[in-house]
Amino acid sequence: MERVYNFSAGPSVLPEAVLKQASEEMLNYGGSGMSVMEMSHRSPVYQGIVDAAEDTLRQLMNIPDTYKVLFLQGGASTQFAMVPLNLMTGSGKADYVSTGAWSKKAIAEAKKSGEVKVLASSEDAMFNYIPKLDPAKFTADADYFFITTNNTIYGTTYKTLPETNGVPIVADMSSNILSEEINVADYGLIFAGAQKNMGPAGVTVVIIREDLVGKAGANVPTMLNYATHVNAGSMFNTPPTYSIYVAGLVFKWLLDNGGIKAMEAQNKIKAAILYDFLDGSDFFKGTVVKEDRSIMNVPFVSPNAKLDAAFIKGAGAKGLVNLKGHRSVGGMRASIYNAMPVEGVQILVDYMKTFEAANI
Ligand SMILES: *Cc1c(COP(=O)(O)O)cnc(C)c1O
Repeated sequence: MERVYNFSAGPSVLPEAVLKQASEEMLNYGGSGMSVMEMSHRSPVYQGIVDAAEDTLRQLMNIPDTYKVLFLQGGASTQFAMVPLNLMTGSGKADYVSTGAWSKKAIAEAKKSGEVKVLASSEDAMFNYIPKLDPAKFTADADYFFITTNNTIYGTTYKTLPETNGVPIVADMSSNILSEEINVADYGLIFAGAQKNMGPAGVTVVIIREDLVGKAGANVPTMLNYATHVNAGSMFNTPPTYSIYVAGLVFKWLLDNGGIKAMEAQNKIKAAILYDFLDGSDFFKGTVVKEDRSIMNVPFVSPNAKLDAAFIKGAGAKGLVNLKGHRSVGGMRASIYNAMPVEGVQILVDYMKTFEAANI
């Protein structure tokens, strides 16, 4: 069977070259006589895999030496709790922006640890824009300032970072990490579940500035304390060994293909193919305000739900799968992460044209 074009929001498409390499190494990794899955995480051969994954990620994102890189479990959702448990320990205050379901979950967790100020929300318009922020409302002594940089469900993204006057920015980058060049030093802490744009589910990357480690209260469970994992090099307990290995292969694939700069250029081309078509169509419509559009997740609708369903069904028959929008938004969503080739987007747009001509 042919491989499909998989537009899933997550877990999502992985580079074919990576899957091939993983399959070639499945039974016998690097002459070890065993699969990576079967290896002790304390073995030198596995340590080599983790070290290479971290080194490659550091090169890709140009991560300063003053930042620690962690490979954790529990998904991005565990970070919603770990961030306040570890960082809301100075003034006990934090600022959040409500830009979707994931930010709302992060806000709910933070409220268990301290005083949360929601600076702005776009819930009034089903989160189809990034709300303007009034710097006068920022909490001057906040322990951190939290944003979701790319809103996977609604397809919005921040094009500029707020100026927070020294308050560390904590960013949930689950669906746009490695998609475009960023300056890590602009952030205090970055986290991302791997299953959108980095690798298989099971590993969560945390990039944390050194001075933010070691601030957790004494009652914080050991496993939820960043210091535990920093001190143990992400090996306090058994890490998600296979997921880290595959993520490492993805990092290497990115580096070998021109790094984030090249990937960003390709991602912008893919997004433009879709958005240009949507903007010119009298039938399909993008659901996000133009200036806040994501280059990773592109939600759109046809004139009605019945046509949406017919479109999704027809797409599936052509090998274009997982285009159904999130249940809270409806319509369609094309997630076009790094591993989605340009031709996948072109074939999708060709099908959209055919469908439009047949149904308008
Ligand atoms: C998917 C997603 C999450 C949740 O990730 P889990 O790893 O399933 O906990 C959080 N934030 C964003 C922006 C996401 O896209």
